[in-house]
Amino acid sequence: MDMVVCIKQVPETTDIGWDPQTGSLIREGVPGILNPNDKNALEAALDLREKHGGLITALSMGPPQAEEALREALSMGIDRGILLSDSLFAGADTLSTSYTLGLALEKIARFDLILCGKESSDGMTAQVGPQLAELLNLPQLTCAIEITVNRSAVKIKQKLEDGFRILETCLPALITVEREINRPRIPAMDSIIEAYRDKKVQVWAGADIGCHTEHLGLKGSPTRSRKVYRKKVKRGEVTILEGEPDEAAKELIQILKQKGLL
Ligand SMILES: Cc1cc2nc3c(=O)[nH]c(=O)nc-3n(C[C@H](O)[C@H](O)[C@H](O)COP(=O)(O)OP(=O)(O)OC[C@H]3O[C@@H](n4cnc5c(N)ncnc54)[C@H](O)[C@@H]3O)c2cc1C
Repeated sequence: MDMVVCIKQVPETTDIGWDPQTGSLIREGVPGILNPNDKNALEAALDLREKHGGLITALSMGPPQAEEALREALSMGIDRGILLSDSLFAGADTLSTSYTLGLALEKIARFDLILCGKESSDGMTAQVGPQLAELLNLPQLTCAIEITVNRSAVKIKQKLEDGFRILETCLPALITVEREINRPRIPAMDSIIEAYRDKKVQVWAGADIGCHTEHLGLKGSPTRSRKVYRKKVKRGEVTILEGEPDEAAKELIQILKQKGLL
């Protein structure tokens, strides 16, 4: 069973600025990490490969430094990495990102399952997976906390706010996974060395995936940020309860009751 896992490199820190004209985050020079939720998607793919065999490809769209995220995926044990990188892709919103990833998937052509994280830790829209499924005309199963494949059918346990439900569809399909689906493996040192020294990451530009430039990057992005601002967090008054723990606890209960919190 061949799988493609879409992975994104995200900034390592939340302390980053943005371009006041476009509202885009300024990512240049900011250290990146593999989106934590995408590690769960990679782990889910590795688990399925152990049971059903096949080839796993990790696919990422981003600047050249996003290759590091693919190297990390390779060190976890995936078979090949493809980076979509071109200045034409810069400034993409989720629709344009999904369009570009979709074209690369059409070029890859051989896959039974696409796995995505539910959301990225920076954009957090959770739109790319579902949009990608729509663009490729594939069934989508979202928010998976368990995945089971049986011949040409795939079943997931989907996390809901107040419980879960079981959903099933036929392959090929796209699945987005929740963080609690698994605990991603920590690559061994020799796998890390192999990923950086011996394995290759293919880089595809716009011309390699045959895209229409009007759908790419900022130009192809219908989203416009009207205003970006840093939220001011106002800290409340701090009360320190001193004295014996029993007395302090009683006082705390009184305060909470007065505030209607108990
Ligand atoms: C006007 C505008 C301009 C922007 N300009 C830029 C820019 O210049 N540079 C930039 O990096 N971002 C830019 N962004 C942010 C960009 O749109 C999002 O980071 C991106 O589309 C993914 O959305 P998300 O982070 O909400 O992902 P989500 O939808 O929350 O991600 C869900 C899953 O989709 C997959 N996924 C998401 N993004 C990628 C990717 N790039 N490659 C592979 N898989 C992916 C992963 O599996 C991920 O877990 C811009 C946004 C707007 C609105």
